[in-house]
This record gives sequence, structure tokens and C-alpha cells, in this order.
Amino acid sequence: MFFEQMFSPDYKKDLGQIDALIKKYYLSRKKCEAQGFISDCCGKVISSHSISKKFLREIASNDGHVYCFDDRIFGLVERNGEMGLKRVGISDASTYNMFCSQHDNSLFSPIEDCELIPDENQCLRLMYRALMMEKHHKESQFYFWNYMVENAKPLFDFPFSTLMLDCSRFSLRETDLIKEKISYAVKTNDVSNLRVLRIYYREEPGVLCSGAFFPEYDYRGTSLWKKYSLKTTLDALSINILPLSNDGQNYNGVAVLSWLDNPGQDYCQKFIESMHEITLPDLSNVLIHTIFEYIENICISPSWWDSKEKSIQNTLLGLHAIQKHSPLKYKEITMQYDNWNAAEAQLWNGKSWDSFPFS
Ligand SMILES: [Zn+2]
Repeated sequence: MFFEQMFSPDYKKDLGQIDALIKKYYLSRKKCEAQGFISDCCGKVISSHSISKKFLREIASNDGHVYCFDDRIFGLVERNGEMGLKRVGISDASTYNMFCSQHDNSLFSPIEDCELIPDENQCLRLMYRALMMEKHHKESQFYFWNYMVENAKPLFDFPFSTLMLDCSRFSLRETDLIKEKISYAVKTNDVSNLRVLRIYYREEPGVLCSGAFFPEYDYRGTSLWKKYSLKTTLDALSINILPLSNDGQNYNGVAVLSWLDNPGQDYCQKFIESMHEITLPDLSNVLIHTIFEYIENICISPSWWDSKEKSIQNTLLGLHAIQKHSPLKYKEITMQYDNWNAAEAQLWNGKSWDSFPFS
């Protein structure tokens, strides 16, 4: 077995210990990421939705479940190292112990208690929530791998543990820097440095997501940043794909791609500009490919997934398992995942919404 080769002969016992450490560092760790921000913490960190429950309800099965990636270590062992999905109730799906109830309620009331448009203020909150989730997750990752390298060598001594620690240290540094900027924007309600590409769909998306990544290539496959140094500040591109209802324009879904203006570097700006070449009919297909490859926090409609051919399911699961990304060229995405019928797109330039033309 895949994992049997990676761990000691007594691997089931070892995996049990690693599973306990994952629970300790990822699942049980509680921290309000908005501590000291705008209002005081109430002290009760809750399981916060990174994708609102009201949105998950839209795509859930009749009994209130969605599919999420099954990254339990025993799940991976059962599937011989292959990625798979699990059914999760919408009360638990996409939740992280990342805010106290006071901050969770006050910060996201413009999304939770209002109809999603989404205007620039809602986009700012969506981006903030996605970035805080990533920051919370990266910090858990860092503590986990730090423990592994420091204390668990006999248990977990395969070559990439040190590499994983270095990667998580790098990601945490970047998300810490971005946290400062986005927190200031939310605190001052300043959307002048916010940039958003908002794409409306006629069809309801079968896949919802909320997360962020650092674009390394644009959609032509051109490298955006070649050499990382401590002087580099990478741009995080956050992506939310959400259902819409009753907006009066017959749109049933929206993709919100947002980033912060970063003069002189502009990796996200260049990434988005390369989308001009994509045709509207291809847009949902390219985005589905992108989020399965780059965004970890994805919730899938069971009826959407179950209706897909095995070849599509396997390709999407394979994308999610990619550790080292190759240049992503939109012309080479030949698999037809779905067409959510993109109708129009607009760009928030810091002052106004402009039309964003595609090919
Ligand atoms: Zn708090």
C-alpha cells in the first residue's frame, strides 16, 4: 500500500498517532482571527462557516448534505493514497474555529443578513473571510509540521516533512502580511485598494468555494513571479463561487475573484487580464478547473457530482491532489466539466464597476 511504504511497518499505530495530531493542530485548534479588531472578542470561539450555511443549503441534497474533500488520513489509506469525497452536513461543511461569535456575527452581517448582490462592500467581506480562513489553516499547518520536524522524527521521518514546514512558513508569512492590509481595509471600510472581477452565471453553480491562492502563472502559462525572496510580497487572489437568488436579473450564481492593489507587482492583475482571451462559454469550465486545482475549501452539490461521468470525477479529484503546479494554460483545458452560462462580468477598479469583456 502507498502509505505502508511511507510509514514504519507498524503503520496503523503510527497513523493513529498522526490522526490524533491532525485533530489537535487542525480540528481542535481555536483562535479568533479578528482578536482586537474593531470590537473586543467575546471569548467564545465558534465553528464559523467560511461558506454561509444559507448558500450551502442551495446546493445540498434533500437531507442537507454536500460533498467535501475527504482528507482524513485513514480515508487516504483506505483509498490507497487517492483523493476522495465525503458527505458532510451543511452545519459542519466549510467550518473552521476561526472567529468568536461576536466577531463572526458583526463582521459578516452584511453577507449573512442581506441579499447577496454582491456589491464592493460585500466583496470586501467575502475576501476577508476567505483570507482569514486561509491564514487560520496555514497557521495550523505550520504548527503541525513544526511539531513533526521537532518531535516526531522517528514516527514521521520522510523527506518532505522539512519541506512542508518551509512551505507552510512561507505561506504563513504571506498570509500574515495580507491579513494586515485586508484588516485595515475592512476596519476603515475602504474599498479603494480592492479589485474584484465579478462574473454572473445564468445557471446555479454545482460547486461552491471560498479560498485564496498565490497565482504563479497566468492563463497563457506565463510565469508571473520567477524568484521568491523576502522582499517579494505575493498577491493573494481570493475566489468565492456562490449561488444568487432573487436579484431581479435572472442570475443564479456569481464568481467573485478579488485581490488587493499591489503597485509594482500586480501578479493578480496580470492573471485577471489574461482572462480577456477566454470566451464567455468557456469561462465556467476554466474556473471549475482552477478552483479544483488551487482552492482547498470546496463544497459540491451531490446531484451535480453524481451526474458527472467517471472520467470527469477522476480528473477533478486528480487536480485536487496536485502538489506541484505546472503552468495552467486555458487552451489546454479540454475536459468539459460544465457550463454555467456566464452572462456578464464586471471589474471593480477601486472607484466604480466597469464592464469586463471576454473574447
Ligand atoms: Zn473575536
